[in-house]
Amino acid sequence: MNLILLGAPGAGKGTQATGLSEILNIPHISTGEIFRDNIRRNTELGKLADTYISKGELVPDNVTVQIVKDRISQKDCSKGFILDGFPRTIAQAEMLEDILTTEGKSIDKVVNIVIDDEAVVKRLSNRIVCPSCGETYHLEFNPVEDNKCKKCGEQLVHRDDDKPDVIRNRIAAYHRQTEPLVEFYRGKGKLMNVLSESSIEESLQNTLYALGLKGI
Ligand SMILES: [Zn+2]
Repeated sequence: MNLILLGAPGAGKGTQATGLSEILNIPHISTGEIFRDNIRRNTELGKLADTYISKGELVPDNVTVQIVKDRISQKDCSKGFILDGFPRTIAQAEMLEDILTTEGKSIDKVVNIVIDDEAVVKRLSNRIVCPSCGETYHLEFNPVEDNKCKKCGEQLVHRDDDKPDVIRNRIAAYHRQTEPLVEFYRGKGKLMNVLSESSIEESLQNTLYALGLKGI
């Protein structure tokens, strides 16, 4: 099954994608995580991506599309994949259609995770991450002792793009650029809306239900 997850920053796309990836046994492709991994390793791609991401801006299409194209042509995507963070614009969605057509594939379903803006600001302001291994924590839902990573012991930090001003920029960018995708995929008969709940488990159940997979 080839899936796209849509939703504002902080709607829980990443955690849902991780859960779905385990249940469906298909890879979770997060363009944001690919960029952040490159930023941590200070690669050329990382340096380029950081100039945009640290300001809350989107990485240009030509960079992102090439990364997605390479990733979905890999063998582990033959039975399906979950795209998280891509496409973000109608232009990207159209490029994605072209890539998939060349590969003889298509998108099956698009899950739109619905959440209100205030809930996003609250949720993301409380998010802390490990700069070393990338693990995510939440001051309210998944707290840690001594502000140290449970996996590797590193001191946890707020991501630059989780600061309130940057969050508001990201939400505005989402409404402006990504929300038209909801209509784009609705028009193709592929869209499912699911509500983002405060509990990860409930959100995942909503998604499984929408995909007709309840009971797995
Ligand atoms: Zn860690």
